[in-house]
Amino acid sequence: MKKTILTGLRPTGNLHLGHLFGAGQNYIKMQNDYEFFLEIADVQALTDNFNNPEKVRKNVSELTIDLLSIGLDPEKVNFFIQSKIPEIAELTVFYSNLVTVARLERNPTVKTEIAQKKELFGNNGESITYGFLGYPVSQAADITAFNGEVIPVGEDQLPLLEQCREIVRKFNSIYGETLKEPQAILSDTKRVKGLDGNDKMGKSLGNAIFLNDSEEVIKKKIMGAVTDSNKIKKDDPANPDICMVYYYHNLVNKNENKEKICRECKKGERGCVQCKKELMEAMNNFLQPIKEKRKYYEEHPEIVKEILDKGTKKAKEKAETQMKNVKKAMKIDY
Ligand code: ATP
Ligand code: MG
Repeated sequence: MKKTILTGLRPTGNLHLGHLFGAGQNYIKMQNDYEFFLEIADVQALTDNFNNPEKVRKNVSELTIDLLSIGLDPEKVNFFIQSKIPEIAELTVFYSNLVTVARLERNPTVKTEIAQKKELFGNNGESITYGFLGYPVSQAADITAFNGEVIPVGEDQLPLLEQCREIVRKFNSIYGETLKEPQAILSDTKRVKGLDGNDKMGKSLGNAIFLNDSEEVIKKKIMGAVTDSNKIKKDDPANPDICMVYYYHNLVNKNENKEKICRECKKGERGCVQCKKELMEAMNNFLQPIKEKRKYYEEHPEIVKEILDKGTKKAKEKAETQMKNVKKAMKIDY
């Protein structure tokens, strides 16, 4: 019996390098060896985009196309839409009894995200909604609806996984051994930094290089990337460790010798403009095959729809079975 993977992404924008290196490359590696459910998390996306349903709707197919373009095989991965699995919403209600409000407020990921969304939730999070505060509970429902055991995610998700594991233990201790405790799997690049030097490249942070950015946009973004601010002149020595241009060379530049770039930068033998130009070229080469695949799916929306329909059907069957187990354990199997 293959173990089950459950993982998800929010349809709030296109995929960026953070998704690809932080999570996507693990999905690609793991797709052969697991029963794989990949959730397009539209309900979760609405928790902080409830006032912008068009954005979420549009990005369901955009995100699916991105995921297919990076090399996920729809024969091996079940792509499904969260809102089409009502069992997840039911489980969320049941689990909401098993977690305290104080515990949710302490969750480091939730705390960071509330601080980033001042416009929506107020300067000190005073306008936080019940739905957003509770999204870790809904995420526990996502995972356990499929008895997901292996969860490939980026590092920012670890506190949410821990919250899920606590809910599972609590559920099992009260209602009897029913749910599996999931394990997070991190990739080699567990947290990809943003163009602005921020610790996390994020869709909503305005610091991302998206996989479908045009060459023109990539040029602009790389020209504006954070570099060592102490380097003023072309031949000033600089510190590559605090330079985002060097950081992305390490991720995408397959040809250039990274030690050489590092050495030249430290000695003042490499100007930032030249270094940025080289990165632009490497970035465009790296993204080219992904863009070609994207073009194919953009021209065939019916294939994308079919993939989502097929995956959602499989997901629904699996969640229905799990729901029966849960209701039996909770003695609400009338
Ligand atoms: P949003 O701002 O809408 O939350 P996001 O960029 O955080 O967007 P998600 O859909 O929340 O994207 O995340 C999908 C997956 O990608 C998660 O597993 C998350 O950990 C991973 N991920 C996102 N950004 C990064 C990053 N910068 N580094 C590593 N992993 C990341
Ligand atoms: Mg996120």
